[in-house]
Amino acid sequence: MKFIIATNNPKKLKELERILNPLGINAVSAKEAGVSLDDVEETGTTFAGNAFIKANAAFKKTGLASVADDSGLCVDALNGRPGIFSARYAGENATDCDKNNKLISELEDVCEEERTAHFTCAICCILPNGEKIEVEGVCEGSISFEPHGNGGFGYDPIFKYGNKSYAELSPDEKDLISHRGKALRKLKAELEKYLDNN
Ligand code: IMP
Repeated sequence: MKFIIATNNPKKLKELERILNPLGINAVSAKEAGVSLDDVEETGTTFAGNAFIKANAAFKKTGLASVADDSGLCVDALNGRPGIFSARYAGENATDCDKNNKLISELEDVCEEERTAHFTCAICCILPNGEKIEVEGVCEGSISFEPHGNGGFGYDPIFKYGNKSYAELSPDEKDLISHRGKALRKLKAELEKYLDNN
């Protein structure tokens, strides 16, 4: 079965492919399928709402099963910010490094114990018959005082899980504990049920 992955983020694409391809699902990006999602506005007020908007847009444009993830980092000392605004937290054209520096400076006066945070990943999958699967994964951690590691993307260098940052984990280690890995394993279980019955 062919699946459109509704993301323009190549790193997210890789994480989604690693889980979907072993199920015999031919996962292709919207771009590879010749569809642009640049006009899709993430107007939802929750991660799940935005994941649905993106998956539904790809489904409507291609008629093919589509999957989208919406994710972000919620910092307790910042009342859950950046949350659903994680991608644009330091402005439209800001780099990952800009976003990480902004967060670190906002937490300048916050002590180790109060730097708790979590990543959330909501995934919405629209099946060929229009049925919808929605799952969510959460990973609890904290924000470090400075970036560590070179792997991953986005906020990975400043998000600490145990005594390592996400960016210091191998892709397999990150999959095992990450918000996206947890959500994808739930999606996998739901898709296996669907594929068994169809
Ligand atoms: P989205 O594309 O609207 O879901 O944007 C989510 C934003 O949250 C991304 O641009 C990243 O900045 C951040 N993010 C989501 N998942 C991760 C992750 O696994 N590691 C680091 N940053 C992430």
